Amino acid sequence: MDETAVFRDRTFGKFFGFPDCCVDAYCSKTLKHGVRPLCGFRRCDACAARPLEQLISEINARRICPKPFPLPPTSEDFQTILKDSRLDAAERECIASHQEALTSRSDEIRGTIEEMHARLSATETKLVDDVKREPAREQYFRAMFEVERDEQLNDFVERQYLIMREVFVRQVKSGHIKIRH
Ligand SMILES: [Zn+2]
Repeated sequence: MDETAVFRDRTFGKFFGFPDCCVDAYCSKTLKHGVRPLCGFRRCDACAARPLEQLISEINARRICPKPFPLPPTSEDFQTILKDSRLDAAERECIASHQEALTSRSDEIRGTIEEMHARLSATETKLVDDVKREPAREQYFRAMFEVERDEQLNDFVERQYLIMREVFVRQVKSGHIKIRH
């Protein structure tokens, strides 16, 4: 199937339940830059002026992706997604062939961010508890807290880098990114 970028973007827009007006504006490249994107959702001028709560509930009502806005689908969701009668054959094929782009990167990155957040919170809780228990050792506990946080952040950056590198290699191999010599 010869798939154009516009067809792919329209299919993604339908899949995520985005309003037609916003998808049209995105595809015709008439979006204004001043409107803040919401996790990949680019609003047209009219929608940017509308109450966000109403917009989100409309998106969720139309959404084929089983996870509510703004969450991406997980790999397991594709069993259900590919049976959804709202997708025609061409759209289904488009969604199936972009499964990786629609999920994996966000899954992995989201996972490392959530893990980092949990680790930092645990470290902060431990500092508060330690100081409460032994106030005289506060300086030492604070120093150890900084050391640990530094290690956690380095670890996080390193892992993000490895994920991004893998994504990049995948995109070069699949032809989505071309390297000029
Ligand atoms: Zn719109």
